[in-house]
Amino acid sequence: MDWIGILTEASKQVKQTIMPLVGTALAQETYGRGAGGDPKKHIDLQAERALVKTLLNHEISFTLISEESGIKTYGEHPTCYVTTDPIDGTTNTLRGLPFACSSIAISKIPRLDAIEVAAVADIFHEVVYVAQKNLGTYRNQERVESTQITELANVVIGIDFNTWKVAELTKKLNRILLHTKHIRHLGANALELCYVADGTIDAFIDIRGKLRTTDIAAAALIIEEAGARISTLRNTPLTNILSPTETVAFIATGNPQLHQIMLKCLKQV
Ligand SMILES: [Mg+2]
Repeated sequence: MDWIGILTEASKQVKQTIMPLVGTALAQETYGRGAGGDPKKHIDLQAERALVKTLLNHEISFTLISEESGIKTYGEHPTCYVTTDPIDGTTNTLRGLPFACSSIAISKIPRLDAIEVAAVADIFHEVVYVAQKNLGTYRNQERVESTQITELANVVIGIDFNTWKVAELTKKLNRILLHTKHIRHLGANALELCYVADGTIDAFIDIRGKLRTTDIAAAALIIEEAGARISTLRNTPLTNILSPTETVAFIATGNPQLHQIMLKCLKQV
């Protein structure tokens, strides 16, 4: 099965469905809370529907693990898990702030370390990241590699500070904040992880413990296949189950040396 082709097509369908909705009142209409706990917006549901429709058109039977609809089976004999956050960065999308993506990950078992194929599509730009286990990461058909930078003073780091417990968080990140100048948070974690994969930024940290595995399923493989690293704060692999309610804290960096340096900073607090 040409999974890369199918996921690329699904990403395109999702984009075509949601772009006309950006900026409309309809996009914002809310129908209770999604499986991940966030308000379920019209635009999120339409994105998920476009993905499901594309997979069904290819006669794929699957179990969907979605931030919006939760866990649902399509077809008679599901052969794989399709883990998705149809729109990561809904707030950005609704405001027309051009940083958001759609994530799709395929696996035989519902675990973060079992992803075999992944796609993350930039919603506002003509950019799709795809990865296949042991076959590398590609950005619009071009192979990508992560950064080799290791000096903290020169790195650009994404950090998700989006929590009420921000004071607690900055204490833990103190050493990193002291030694770096360039901190960013762009508002769509899966896409920020793809930016680590292709060296646009050098690292991304989310130690809130709030991010769902559905958010990073695709990006985790994209990171690893680009030669970058992603791990728990104890430097162990991410092996969490894929579920809209399972959360994860992690650090992702462009190379093993930078990974060690940043983990050490986190430990020294
Ligand atoms: Mg979402």
